[in-house]
Amino acid sequence: MNRRLVILGAGESGVGTAVLGKQRGYEVFVSDFGKIKETYKQVLIHNNLDWEEEGHTVAKILNAQLVMKSPGIPDNAAIVQQLNEAGVPVISEIEFAAQFTEATLVGITGSNGKTTTATLTYELLKDELNVALGGNIGKSFAEQVSENRYENFVLELSSFQLDGIKNFAPHIAVLTNLSPDHLDRYDYNYQKYIDSKFRITMNQTEADFFIYDGDDSEILTWLENHEIKAKKLPFSLHKEVAEGAYIKNNELIITLHNTKQTMPLASLGLQGQHNIKNAMAASTVATLLKIRKATIRESLERFQGVEHRLEKVLKINNVMYVNDSKATNVNATFYALDSMETPTVWIVGGVDKGNDYSELLPLVNEKVKAIVCLGVDNEKIKRAFGNIVDLIVETAGMEEAVKVAYKIAERNNTVLLSPACASFDLFENYEDRGRQFKEAVRQL
Ligand code: ADP
Repeated sequence: MNRRLVILGAGESGVGTAVLGKQRGYEVFVSDFGKIKETYKQVLIHNNLDWEEEGHTVAKILNAQLVMKSPGIPDNAAIVQQLNEAGVPVISEIEFAAQFTEATLVGITGSNGKTTTATLTYELLKDELNVALGGNIGKSFAEQVSENRYENFVLELSSFQLDGIKNFAPHIAVLTNLSPDHLDRYDYNYQKYIDSKFRITMNQTEADFFIYDGDDSEILTWLENHEIKAKKLPFSLHKEVAEGAYIKNNELIITLHNTKQTMPLASLGLQGQHNIKNAMAASTVATLLKIRKATIRESLERFQGVEHRLEKVLKINNVMYVNDSKATNVNATFYALDSMETPTVWIVGGVDKGNDYSELLPLVNEKVKAIVCLGVDNEKIKRAFGNIVDLIVETAGMEEAVKVAYKIAERNNTVLLSPACASFDLFENYEDRGRQFKEAVRQL
């Protein structure tokens, strides 16, 4: 066994791995190039761990027998390259922690919908199974493994977590969809990013399951050209599937092992086509894990979504304000606009990730009455939509954007914040952006 474990990055996954590693007898050293958050520092101190911040002691790191790299550190960071040259294995938290648990693992990945689907899946399972939620969400998977008390885990997995796996094999894998994102970490090569997502299937066996969007052409093309061992279970909005999930006569149908379960779509707590897909994926997982139909139905009714994802904030003068700050790419915004049922004043903009807005044109034409730009550089938005939207206003901050939207909106309209862009120009992160939006709405 490799005894000397170095952990790069002291965030949620790094600190969790340090705690688990120490518990399992590793000699642990934690190194962070930046400043470590006070709460994490306290955990390191409390657990008597060896750590450093604001720099790497390279010799000590290269002396490791195993390295766990936090997902935020890119492969081309100098220290990672040095480790590669020295032949030291570099893995992710998921890879490290999974070897210490016998629990059933459900891994959920995709470009959009990971958090919603993982949270919903957890909600469907939690009344009947001993289950924890982890990965990119909430408490770290490694730390929860160290608690030794869960029989099932639902894990939200980014492509970065999957890049660092070697043997990790979820019993049930979910791929929600594919659209270009994070390409800066994949040499601007979409195919590399897709391959990275499919790593979730690479160690699965015939006893495992792969649930995926059967309407997603990128996913279907990949599957036509590659063999996977797990049993394939597609979900589809548009066609019946032999095994998996689909929609017919306004019912959500799960078909597995020659039996069918049906649930009325009208009882879904979530709104929007994309959320029907998320619900199909989560219900298929729950059915595979033998959750009772009544429990699935009740949880689907109850679940109202996750903060910053098409979150209804307030109704003022019969105008609904919706916070979709987590829409950091065009595809997420596509589904937000698609789910709008009344004329929409759309607040959009931020840091452009090389966005191609053309897929939004028909929806914007149909649903958007005015655009409020919120970003440092709005030229691209003005160029993309200038011909089809009469009113485009530029603003310099959230408060102003919300006030302008308030003035434009008329009764029975919706004001939607769905930026389609990253948030690092005017905000700390998407949560900060969403909170500022809600605050500004409450001030109206
Ligand atoms: P992730 O964790 O993959 O970023 P989230 O559940 O946080 O996904 O949702 C991110 C954004 O994508 C939100 O704006 C949400 O409304 C939208 N979204 C959620 N599910 C889907 C889906 N299946 N397809 C496309 N967009 C989605």
